Amino acid sequence: RTRPRTLLVTGGAGFIGANFVYYWCETYPGDRVVVLDALTYAGNRQTLAPLEEKANLRFVQGDICDRAVVSALLEEEAIDTVAHFAAESHVDRSILGPDAFVRTNVNGTFTLVEAFRQYWNACNQPTHFRFHHVSTDEVYGSLGADDPAFSETTPYAPNSPYSASKAGSDHLVRAYYHTYGLPTLITNCSNNYGPYHFPEKLIPLMCINILMGKPLPVYGDGQNIRDWLYVGDHCSALDAVIHRGTPGETYNIGGNNEVKNIDLVHMLCALMDELAPELPVRPSNKLITFVKDRAGHDRRYAINATKITSELGWQPAQTIESGLRHTVSWFLTNCEWWQPLLSDEYQAYYAQVYTNA
Ligand code: NAD
Repeated sequence: RTRPRTLLVTGGAGFIGANFVYYWCETYPGDRVVVLDALTYAGNRQTLAPLEEKANLRFVQGDICDRAVVSALLEEEAIDTVAHFAAESHVDRSILGPDAFVRTNVNGTFTLVEAFRQYWNACNQPTHFRFHHVSTDEVYGSLGADDPAFSETTPYAPNSPYSASKAGSDHLVRAYYHTYGLPTLITNCSNNYGPYHFPEKLIPLMCINILMGKPLPVYGDGQNIRDWLYVGDHCSALDAVIHRGTPGETYNIGGNNEVKNIDLVHMLCALMDELAPELPVRPSNKLITFVKDRAGHDRRYAINATKITSELGWQPAQTIESGLRHTVSWFLTNCEWWQPLLSDEYQAYYAQVYTNA
């Protein structure tokens, strides 16, 4: 590396953002990391607490839609790299209430990229500055069983309010490169999993329900296919793109692990049966309960990651088996992290989504 970096990490108290902050502080201890996070239901400052004591890290509670806060932070901290994770991220919540998704994902991304452009101009447009926008493969829509995997040239066809709002933010960031020459980067990745994953998401939800002996709600026929990416592999991919990616380009990131939802749930049940010392119901797969399908549920996502592997030399280190084993062990040994998240608000949300579970 030619120089240390000063990063603004938005959404750094969320699942992927926090894993990224840990990854970056451990990999580049000479860099400064500033986290900007609104601490919505999905943000948890406790996740970063052990790191705040020892790393060159500052936490700021604030909203990416607040232009004054964003602009002041960029200048005050002399930021050269923005890693933008902050978002409303859960498809089921976007179906129940899309407003927050458009506000944060579209307006928030606009506020951030526009503030960064003005600051970059004021600094005389340094060529080493980077604005990295983290996005999802869901912007490409749904695949049939025999369709080729999503590549960077697949047309956008978002189907949920979540993916539509992410698509809007991707287009804005892309336009800032083409119109203003702002050094932007975009990555679209598949489903992440790993430590610090909020309990509403499929993998932690299944682990926690197995521990509690509660039904394991599986949408529809369970045949929907997702590609799974271990969050640590996602972080190393972002590192490769920030350091070696070409500004203005998009890179798809995938784990090369296409799995049907029902098969994933069976894998989790088997791991929990093996690793958990005490379970109220064994074997855990007796708890599987098929529930009414999610509205507009995409059938299949798959990522063609040839560009990032061939151009930037990135490869995922985990297989689905090794990544899941690590994740299940983490949830078993970190109950004190996830138990407080099962709040009344969470229970009310859960009851609304899984009405017949
Ligand atoms: P998350 O929901 O766990 O975390 C989001 C974080 O953003 C939270 O800490 C929240 O407090 C913060 N935030 C929300 N609104 C904010 C606002 N207005 N201002 C400042 N902070 C705000 O999400 P995640 O799963 O870590 O996802 C991170 C990013 O990666 C998102 O952009 C998401 O679209 C993208 N992504 C996620 C996945 C996945 O599998 N989780 C897959 C592909 C892409």
